[in-house]
Amino acid sequence: MSLISGSPEPGRLAAFGWSPAVASAFEPFRADDLELARVAVAFGATFRVIAHDGEMLADLTGRLRHQAAGRRDLPAVGDWIALKRSTSEGGRGSIQAVLPRQSVFSRKVAGETTTEQIVAANVDVAFLMMSLDHDFNPRRIERYLAMTWQSGARPVILLNKADVAEALDDKVQEIAGSATGVPVHVISARDGRGMEALSPYLTAGQTIAVLGSSGVGKSTLINWLLGEDRLRTQEVRASDSRGRHTTTHRELVPLAGGAVLVDTPGMRELQLWSADSGVEEAFDDIAALAAGCFFANCGHATEPRCAVKAAVADGRLSPERLENYHKLGREQDMLAARQDGLAEQLAKKKLRAQFRAIRKQSQSRPKDRP
Ligand code: GDP
Ligand code: ZN
Repeated sequence: MSLISGSPEPGRLAAFGWSPAVASAFEPFRADDLELARVAVAFGATFRVIAHDGEMLADLTGRLRHQAAGRRDLPAVGDWIALKRSTSEGGRGSIQAVLPRQSVFSRKVAGETTTEQIVAANVDVAFLMMSLDHDFNPRRIERYLAMTWQSGARPVILLNKADVAEALDDKVQEIAGSATGVPVHVISARDGRGMEALSPYLTAGQTIAVLGSSGVGKSTLINWLLGEDRLRTQEVRASDSRGRHTTTHRELVPLAGGAVLVDTPGMRELQLWSADSGVEEAFDDIAALAAGCFFANCGHATEPRCAVKAAVADGRLSPERLENYHKLGREQDMLAARQDGLAEQLAKKKLRAQFRAIRKQSQSRPKDRP
């Protein structure tokens, strides 16, 4: 095999979510001095990245920084990137481009203007966790579901604390009813019951995240998933450029089954950003009922001959569910208004410009491939 650019073999990346699909996504960026890597931690403008043969620190190129219209355009944990290695030994790499994201979890950052900060990119499966004790709240799961649909990740609902649950069957029924087509698993992260159902999601190439309110058992589940590797994975001993041992922190954590977990503080406190299509999917029963409303643009509030309100009246739809639907809709409208201005700016400065620049740069260089 001839030694061509990029990293033809996944190497270390195999434990960090690499898949043939990721390799294909890198193809348009392939150049003699660029290789595929993944962001494991973002500290402001410095990043710890994983490459096929190890880890290193990397900086943004000035171009990437200047062309970014907002934080959304900058690399985040979970991003696949085109990395250029420093030629000096032990030098830092530079991030030349961010590959298109398959999914994005983001949060709004409060301030004069709303800005969007990426919490994690390229999550494949989101475990939405809720406990079966007194914190049980189906409305909350609907919010997490809407957010997950919007992100592009696949939701899987985990009902935890099965060991202390009362009226378990009723609760499972209730959740299954409000989450059509979404897998629901009953587990106990404490005693391990039901956990075998998770293994199909934990295979190589899968990037996993755990979402849920405080106290539902996220840390307990994560510790269980890490198993014996726990101490080794989260704080890794690495050698710095002078051969000294240093302790480094990562927010991408390889799991025993081959998957990789995104574990960042921000992932635990996600708010809704925009869930336009997400709300419709999480409330597909309401969308189906709405087809029977007399007015095509019925808001299911004060309009006459509303099929949704009729369903509430005869018990087919719970009033709480309709109320939650309205509440989510109002939050979205407020956000959408603030986002309008932002969206326009973002459209002007697209990452494409960078990609073009990189291409041009690599074309103008003499070909050194056979
Ligand atoms: P987090 O805030 O979501 O990370 O929740 P933790 O993992 O810290 O768990 C909160 C509390 O719930 C702790 O006291 C755990 O021991 C307890 N807990 C977690 N999972 C279970 C479970 O399956 N059953 C029971 N009974 N308690 C659990
Ligand atoms: Zn209606």
